[in-house]
Amino acid sequence: MRLSLAVCVLCGLALRAAAQSNAERVANDAYTRSHDYDLVHQVIDVRDFDWDSTTFTGRVTTSLVALRPGLDSVILDAGQLLTIRKVTAGITGTTSLRFTRHGDTLVVYPAKPVAFHDTTRFTIDYRGRVDNGKGLTFIVPEGRPHRPQQIWSQGEDMNNHLWFPTHDFPNDKMTWELRATVPAVDAAVSNGRLVFDRKNPDGTHTVAWRQDLPTATYLVSLVVAPLAHLSDAWRGIPVDYYVYHEDSAIARRLFAATPDMIDVYSRLTGIPYPWAKYAQTTVADFFGGMENVSATTLVDWLPDERAYRDRPWYLWILIPHELAHQWFGDYTTTENWANMWLNEGFAEFMPGQYWGAKLGRHAADDYYLDEYTQFMGIDARRRMPLAARASNNIYPKGALVLRMLQRYLGPERFWASLHTYLTRHALGNATSDDLRQAVLEATGENLDWFWDEWVYQAGYPEFAVAAAYDSTGKKLTLTVTQTQVDTAKADSTGLRFATPAVFRMPVTVRVGTSAGDVTRRVALTAREQTIVFDRVAAPPTMVVFDDGNAVLKGLTFEQPTAWLATQLARDPDLWNRFWVIRQLAGRGADSAAGRALAAAATGADYFTTRASEPSSSRTTRASSIRSKGCWAISAPLPMHSARSPTAAAPTPSTR
Ligand SMILES: [Zn+2]
Repeated sequence: MRLSLAVCVLCGLALRAAAQSNAERVANDAYTRSHDYDLVHQVIDVRDFDWDSTTFTGRVTTSLVALRPGLDSVILDAGQLLTIRKVTAGITGTTSLRFTRHGDTLVVYPAKPVAFHDTTRFTIDYRGRVDNGKGLTFIVPEGRPHRPQQIWSQGEDMNNHLWFPTHDFPNDKMTWELRATVPAVDAAVSNGRLVFDRKNPDGTHTVAWRQDLPTATYLVSLVVAPLAHLSDAWRGIPVDYYVYHEDSAIARRLFAATPDMIDVYSRLTGIPYPWAKYAQTTVADFFGGMENVSATTLVDWLPDERAYRDRPWYLWILIPHELAHQWFGDYTTTENWANMWLNEGFAEFMPGQYWGAKLGRHAADDYYLDEYTQFMGIDARRRMPLAARASNNIYPKGALVLRMLQRYLGPERFWASLHTYLTRHALGNATSDDLRQAVLEATGENLDWFWDEWVYQAGYPEFAVAAAYDSTGKKLTLTVTQTQVDTAKADSTGLRFATPAVFRMPVTVRVGTSAGDVTRRVALTAREQTIVFDRVAAPPTMVVFDDGNAVLKGLTFEQPTAWLATQLARDPDLWNRFWVIRQLAGRGADSAAGRALAAAATGADYFTTRASEPSSSRTTRASSIRSKGCWAISAPLPMHSARSPTAAAPTPSTR
């Protein structure tokens, strides 16, 4: 609806790209916005906030470099509710410049055309007003407890231009300084390092923060609220927690793991935490969390004692998710929104790595099993690829595909690839193909087939497996069929999200026998194929298709109850156990199935296996949804797992 240049450019590109496949559009950067200048730095000065009228006064000084000869007009995104009072050259504001307004666009005409690669600077004075909740949210107490008067910003996807003029697309990074003049009782939290905090004669104070390293403009953030400041540190870098004064006591316990998470992420990526500080600030009516660079914003719902009996969603996912974005999203940023899974997929993947590192393999499995449950629900509603405009599954499928890539490459090659990706695109932008190139550079392996199947196309393989043992020939024969169907239709632009008829992947099969296990890695390359195990001297005691659960998949595999019971007792992988439990639960008349489930319920080495209720679907933290931007919760209710409260949850390790 917004008549900005961006939308017009995207419309034009979409029409021209009508005949292209999704892969062609994404790989050819069809969704990247053109711009004829390089935004370098903005000083954003905001004051005179009025909660009743949701207005404020703004002054923004912009420095930019021309990317074409004779740049005679600068097109900025600026919400139409911003009333531009004047535009002047430079910082001092003596020479007025002509400007025009077109909806959410502001065009500034420099005094003379700017030469190619020359710098120009101008200052915009304006009276700001927002449609409350768009760009800025003004919160009033309404007489409710735990709800101080406050303001918070939310830029992602393209809402920051609703409170200050800028280039509101992720492909032009800048540095900035944000100065906010606010009431004496309020803190003003923003990105980067604190420059000053000065008292003014009128009882207000002006707080200036400076973001010294360039990043995307959607990450510019401001929170104004009466907040307590709790200080922590990681290797000398300030780690700050800003919460309501009444939450001070419980906040320390909640956020105390943050420095350790920073440490683990720094080690895994090989990129030490890159920003001047890391602040986490809680606000009211927030949808979840937002990874504003070095200054994450979080919902003010802090977990209570009851939540700590299980894993509080806040600690288990929200904090490590937003922290992961400081590398994936803020340091290396998607070039356009069609590649947003590069931000969200990694942010969703990394908490599982953290908990795996702290609590062991089962904790990681448990984390990704939730992602699997979420993904299957989303895919069933609408099947979309990871890399696509407005893709609906960038969180869980992103996490699962990255985990699959990790399993395929092995940890050394996987983390080396990510290090290459973050290094090559440090403080810059990246596309899905840049990640593929990083893997190629770090490992020498071209995974174009993997990207084609898992990034640009949609769906997942659904395997139907049948096993037959020939006791005379001592052979076990597996028939593996891929049964996924592609029912997608093209939209009005000709775009169709295809599902591969064949997912080509290596898979490991484990055959248990009385003489020991036989494992084989098999390349799946056809819609239907036969795998023969020779020299299986004794009848199998179990057959595990995709040992270790390395492939994102659906599985149908009819087996004797004895095989399933053996697998449930022996298989360390939680997805595999979960699958087996569901098979056994469907055999109510089979006493052997009941005995196997009972044995797992009391003796399994992980609490979720013990607590699994075969008759109920797995409903957990996955009841969270994501609506926009980053992490969102579906309701302002405690996000406890639905697990039995008597199941002993491991205590997360904190510093
Ligand atoms: Zn996120």
